[in-house]
Amino acid sequence: MAKKKPGKEGVNWDYSPSLESTSHITILPKYELFINNEWVKPSSKKYFKTTNPANEDVLSEIAWANDYDVDLAVKAARNAYNDVWSKTTPKERSKYIYRIARLMQEHARELSVIETLDAGKPIRESRDIDVPLACNHFFYYAGWADKLEYAFPNQPMEALGVAGQIIPWNFPLLMAAWKIAPALAAGNCVVLKPAETTSLTALKLAEIIKASGLPPGVVNIITGHGDTGAAIVNHPDINKIAFTGSTNVGKIIQRAIAGTGKKATLELGGKSANIIFDDAPIDQAVEGIVNGIFFNQGHVCCAGSRLFVQENIAELVIRKLKHRMDSLYLGNPLDKNTDIGAINSKEQLETIEKYIKIGISEGAEIYQSTCELPGKGYFCRPTIFTNVAQSSRISQEEIFGPVLSIQTFRTVDEVIQKANNSPYGLAAGVWTDKGSRIFNLTSKLRAGVIWANTYNKFDPTSPFGGYKESGFGREGGLHGLGAYLKMKL
Ligand code: ADP
Repeated sequence: MAKKKPGKEGVNWDYSPSLESTSHITILPKYELFINNEWVKPSSKKYFKTTNPANEDVLSEIAWANDYDVDLAVKAARNAYNDVWSKTTPKERSKYIYRIARLMQEHARELSVIETLDAGKPIRESRDIDVPLACNHFFYYAGWADKLEYAFPNQPMEALGVAGQIIPWNFPLLMAAWKIAPALAAGNCVVLKPAETTSLTALKLAEIIKASGLPPGVVNIITGHGDTGAAIVNHPDINKIAFTGSTNVGKIIQRAIAGTGKKATLELGGKSANIIFDDAPIDQAVEGIVNGIFFNQGHVCCAGSRLFVQENIAELVIRKLKHRMDSLYLGNPLDKNTDIGAINSKEQLETIEKYIKIGISEGAEIYQSTCELPGKGYFCRPTIFTNVAQSSRISQEEIFGPVLSIQTFRTVDEVIQKANNSPYGLAAGVWTDKGSRIFNLTSKLRAGVIWANTYNKFDPTSPFGGYKESGFGREGGLHGLGAYLKMKL
């Protein structure tokens, strides 16, 4: 049956459903821990369920690692580091990483469908963004593994040893690739923990790693909740923690490793500013706003969640934005027409709904797209707030959902001051016809990544990371490689 495209203002054409097939994927009913290239039962004997947030179906049961299991994984990584990986030539390391990339490409369809089922993100995104980018990270770092002395000339260096890596649920496979590929290229071994709501693609990656012939123990993937993550952080034989997640947990980790000599890179929250000047190409900018905040249901650390529009074009931009919001298709993430998928979990939906209520109680004016919500699953309509005060919670705190707060400005100095008035500093977007203005803003905005006339564009060669409470250290590019090396000079 053809589906009605949601919306008013005459946007009501029909789409036939175009569901991606699930017949080519395998999800086991139960997953164990991946240690030493073997599937190991958790000594806790505990498992937790992972569900499809779009229909609340249980997909699988996942092992819940405790301190003992974490210790087993760290020992496996340490032994692999001492006995094998530190003696493997850079050229051989490079071949393994390249092989993982090729195998991921071969499994690209399966990986994207599983990502969509487990995380709720539209298949178009997992198929066209997450999975290709994840493969590209492995390809990119495979290239550097045997050229470290060219990457960092005249700097004698060595690997750190064992890296503990803890990742969030918004880009599950991509985050695993961001973390594992540079660590291996630099010669480290790894213990990685995916987020509890999205373990499946990391476990598929474990299957791929095993198939690649990577020596046992070089990459260990263990699953669990926050206590498992904390056990990794506190393990005495870990040399480096790479964490992407909430600022709160980032602060806990910083306290836990203070004085231990463990290195860390922390990629935390954001409240990024997307700035539209009156000479910007308005229609492209509206697409950029939509991409910045509604892409992946706003589950993006660097989401453009604060919009600053120059006052003289604000009415036009907001009118066009509302019109565009009404044409967004919200629904089954497996449908190739879907623009907005499911919120990752019930808890996250509750957080977003709480913030929407806060926005209303703070006196901001709300507009939500008119689409219907499916009867089951966790969904949230794209939402914007106008008349937002600088001090309001919805413009200061990270919501991590499809909720945009809109403010206006008159001058360049005013918008720089407003954009920087945030505890975070992960990313920003600037839309203007003037190159000089772009350079002026990029030097004054305190954000790790600044996009000009685009938003949410990622590439393995570009470093990514934040200022202030958005964390420190960079991932991607040469900076991401350097973060896994000890420079001896
Ligand atoms: P979010 O709020 O986006 O879910 P979290 O920071 O809670 O982000 O989670 C990100 C990752 O950190 C997940 O893999 C989670 O299991 C893990 N985690 C949660 N609490 C801790 C902790 N105290 N120590 C280490 N890792 C943790």
